[in-house]
Amino acid sequence: QAKGAGKNVHLRFLPDMEASVTRRFAMLNELRNAQELGQLVLLYQPIIQLRDRRVIGAEALVYWDHPRHGRITPSTFIPVAEEHGLIEQLGEWVLEEAVRQSAAWRTRGLMPMRMAVNVSSAQFRDANRLRNAVDRVLRRHGYPADGLELEITERQIMTDPASSIATMVALSDLGVAMALDDFGTGYSSLSHLREFPLRKLKIDRAFTDQIDRDPAGLAIVRAVVELGRNLGMQVVAEGVEREAQVAPLLASECAQVQGFLFGAPMPASEFERRLLRPIPA
Ligand code: C2E
Ligand code: MG
Ligand code: MG
Ligand code: MG
Repeated sequence: QAKGAGKNVHLRFLPDMEASVTRRFAMLNELRNAQELGQLVLLYQPIIQLRDRRVIGAEALVYWDHPRHGRITPSTFIPVAEEHGLIEQLGEWVLEEAVRQSAAWRTRGLMPMRMAVNVSSAQFRDANRLRNAVDRVLRRHGYPADGLELEITERQIMTDPASSIATMVALSDLGVAMALDDFGTGYSSLSHLREFPLRKLKIDRAFTDQIDRDPAGLAIVRAVVELGRNLGMQVVAEGVEREAQVAPLLASECAQVQGFLFGAPMPASEFERRLLRPIPA
C-alpha cells in the first residue's frame, strides 16, 4: 500500500498506478533517467504576507515533463522516487536549481525573498549528506542561508524524531530555516514539537479548506496560530482558494498564506513577470 494513501493527492493515481505493476515498473525506469534527459522542471508557488498581499517567498515544486504523458505532478512520482532510492539525487537537483534561480533573481536586483524547498525523510536520515549538499549549493551561488527554507512533512519527521532533530539542528546551524509541512495531518505530539528547531508551521489545506463555512476548521486554525506564536514560529495557511477564506484567516491572525487564490505553481519566467519587482531605488 502506498505511503500516505489517506491523502487525497495520492488517491488520484492509485487506480492507474496499482492497477498495473508493469506500468509502475515502466515509470520507475523512465524516472531514473528523467533528470539526465532534462525532463524535470521546477514550478514556483508564491508565499504571501496576508496583510498587504506582498510576495515574501516561493515554494519550489518539482514536476516531470514526460514525453508521452505530459506534465506529471510530484504527488504521483515523488513517492515512487522515495520508495526506490532515487529521491536523494532528485532532491539535490531540486535544491541546486531552486537556489540557482533565487540567487539569479537577487543578482538581477529583484526583491529578495525566501526560497522554500521540500525535502524527504530519506534525505533527512543522512544528516551529513544533506548538510553538505546545502552548504555546497549556498557557497556555489553565494546565496545567504537565511534565504533558504527547507520543508519537511510532519509525517516524515515522526518516522524517526530523534534523528530528525539532529538533522534540523545541523541545518539550523548553517542558518537555514526549517518549516513543518502539512501540519495537522500527521500525529506529532505537541510535546515533541517543542524540541524541533522550526521556524514555520504550514497548516494543511484540509483545515483551511472550509474555514469560512466550518467553525471547527476556524477553531483549529486559530489554535495553531496561537501555538505557533507561543513557540516562536511563523504560521502559513496552505491551500487558500477563495476570497471568502481571507477574512477568517485575517481574524485568526494568520500572517502568511499560500494557495491558488494568490497563485498556482508557475514557471520561473511567469513568476518573475507577474510577481517580482525591482528593489525600489
Ligand atoms: P506540499 O509541499 O504540501 O505542496 C503543496 C501542494 O498543494 C502542491 O501540490 C500545490 O500545487 C498544491 N496546492 C497549492 N495551493 C493549492 C490550492 O489552493 N488548492 C489546492 N487544491 N492545492 C494547492 P503538488 O505540486 O502536487 O505537490 C504535492 C507534494 O509533492 C508537495 O506537497 C510535496 O510534499 C511534494 N513535492 C513537491 N516537490 C517536491 C520536491 O522537490 N521534493 C520532495 N521531497 N517532495 C516534493
Ligand atoms: Mg511543501
Ligand atoms: Mg503542504
Ligand atoms: Mg503536501
